[in-house]
Amino acid sequence: MDEPARLRVHLDEAALRDNIQTVRRLLTPAATVMGVVKAHAYGHGLVLAARLLTRHGVQHLAVATTDEACTLRDAGLQVPITLLSPPAPAAMAELVARDLRPALSTLAAARDLHRIGVRRGRPVPVHLEIDTGLGRFGWAPTAASIAQITRLAALDHLVVCGIYTHLSSQDPDLCAHQLRLFTWVYAKAAAALGYRPPRHVLASSGLAAGLHRRTRLEMVRPGALLYGLPPSYSPPASPTAPTLDLRPVLSLTSRIEHLARLPSGTPIGYGATYRTAASTVVAVVPAGFADGVPRQLTGSGRVLICGHYAPVIGCVGMTHLTVDVTHIPQATVGETVILIGAHGERAIDAQEWARLATTINSDVLTRIAPAIARTVTTLPHAERKPA
Ligand SMILES: *Cc1c(COP(=O)(O)O)cnc(C)c1O
Repeated sequence: MDEPARLRVHLDEAALRDNIQTVRRLLTPAATVMGVVKAHAYGHGLVLAARLLTRHGVQHLAVATTDEACTLRDAGLQVPITLLSPPAPAAMAELVARDLRPALSTLAAARDLHRIGVRRGRPVPVHLEIDTGLGRFGWAPTAASIAQITRLAALDHLVVCGIYTHLSSQDPDLCAHQLRLFTWVYAKAAAALGYRPPRHVLASSGLAAGLHRRTRLEMVRPGALLYGLPPSYSPPASPTAPTLDLRPVLSLTSRIEHLARLPSGTPIGYGATYRTAASTVVAVVPAGFADGVPRQLTGSGRVLICGHYAPVIGCVGMTHLTVDVTHIPQATVGETVILIGAHGERAIDAQEWARLATTINSDVLTRIAPAIARTVTTLPHAERKPA
């Protein structure tokens, strides 16, 4: 296969390192960063992103599925890995064998893991999730939950290495309410356990709101910020929120596959929704909605070619889109097309795609097809010191 790649996802190691430092500056020095790499690291590439994060001082990783965690272990990553969803009974033996840390929210799961721990003769590390308002997983903040956690605490082949909850919004009143409920459950759980496991509550939006300086918990769980993505579930920035200088890590590029000058009045693309208004040079780019380019870029999206914006004309197809390059005489077949990324001062970011597709930045990035090769611009060795 010597055909050049139709599309390429590229990661900028320096940007990732700077984002980690930006997050670090929001924290107290002792806080541990658990970097969230679920969903192919928000489209960035699971193993590649995990390697870069750990190279720059992220000491823990978190995933959503056992498969993701096993992929990381297979790739040789040895840091603690937390599974942020309930472990499937069929996956438990493997979780323990590969030293992964599942989040529990039922006594039944705790007993299953405990049995495996007894069989292996060593305690199984777990996190406990408390549901303080997201309505998904986790023990509800009730006396019945405390009774269950007390029974869990008596299982001597489990060790609780974290207790956490997940905030549902950045609304100050809701956050304060969730934090109060968490504090109440945590105090009871720690009393039952006889030790105080690390607590973790804040993901990107809580960190961006500056909440860590108030909560000062032992761990934080950012995803979006590490990738340079502004958090999505944010009300207008509060005056006390820190300003964050985030750098997008991911770019998505392609190449011009075909060029043609078409006369005025030529219909372009499916449905003939677009007709050239004058003689137009049309570039065909091998990137479509099957690759993760939102179909909603039809009629409103743009790409960057030779440092100039070129508007998407006609419908975004399954494997191709078309852009108007009449004003870019340097554009030739094979020329680089930036779909997401920057050229000098000009940039197209995931937020732009999200706005056009009426969704959030992580939604558009996680739709970038996993089959597309991920590469990285690495830093010189001297700049690879952990943050
Ligand atoms: C996805 C996720 C995170 C990370 O969220 P960001 O907003 O990307 O920082 C943290 N905690 C849990 C439980 C999650 O599911």
